[in-house]
Amino acid sequence: MLRERVAETIYVFTSSRYLEVAAGLIMTPQGCVVVDTLPFPSESRQMYEFARRNCPAGIRWVVNTHFHADHIYGNYLFEGIPIIAHEETRAMLERVGEQALEEAKQETPELREVRLRLPDITYRGRAAIRLADYNIELIHAPGHSSDCTMVYIEEEKILFAGDAVLPVPYIVGGDLNQMLATLQKVQSLNLESIVQGHGGVLLRGEIPETLEAAINYLKKVRSFVHNAVSKGASERELLAWDVEKAGLSRVPLGGMAQELHRANLLYLYRSFQKERLRRAG
Ligand SMILES: [Zn+2]
Repeated sequence: MLRERVAETIYVFTSSRYLEVAAGLIMTPQGCVVVDTLPFPSESRQMYEFARRNCPAGIRWVVNTHFHADHIYGNYLFEGIPIIAHEETRAMLERVGEQALEEAKQETPELREVRLRLPDITYRGRAAIRLADYNIELIHAPGHSSDCTMVYIEEEKILFAGDAVLPVPYIVGGDLNQMLATLQKVQSLNLESIVQGHGGVLLRGEIPETLEAAINYLKKVRSFVHNAVSKGASERELLAWDVEKAGLSRVPLGGMAQELHRANLLYLYRSFQKERLRRAG
């Protein structure tokens, strides 16, 4: 696991085990806030212990950015500390969490000690945590999934974007148009850095260009898939259109970019097809 400091009192923990997934720690004189809890107990525990050692006023809150396993499996280690998330995060975990965890335990023995822990407190729209001089805003940011939360630390101009910002926007299980609206929301914030849900930290100089590229990517994908469906292109033809043709690099996330991109194409293709059939029917 990689630990880096993105501001005087803010740390980012990046997993070396699973797709560079990130978690964060915001320290204030009145205690600290943890953003996401990583998937594997060994790394979650390291983060927990670091937080305990370095926050004399204690860990006050855990925020979950969304319900995906790689962001929340470490929750159970933060015993007694309230977890806050969007109301849909809790609802999704109630619906699918236990079964998904059981399946994950079959495949990954290291997860056997994990217990699912749901958010205790939920919000809708917008919420804020005020600690010392910090105003930590929770912003609903649907698109990657409908329940996503971004955590914005106004004083430091730092955004923990969760999976709302990734090297390749990923909309499988989510909604492309909502993703576009969320990225435009990010563009409107005054930012020094963005902690992506996976793939590292974006610094001030690279933010405008990266957000622009993500927005262009989604628009290109939308019109490409639209055309493919109206021309009756096969899935094979669809998948021949690679991530670089859609304007993004295939390098990030250990080469996973291409796979994420292809999953986006298929997801959108199938949902456009379904929509078309429904209209025709
Ligand atoms: Zn996710």
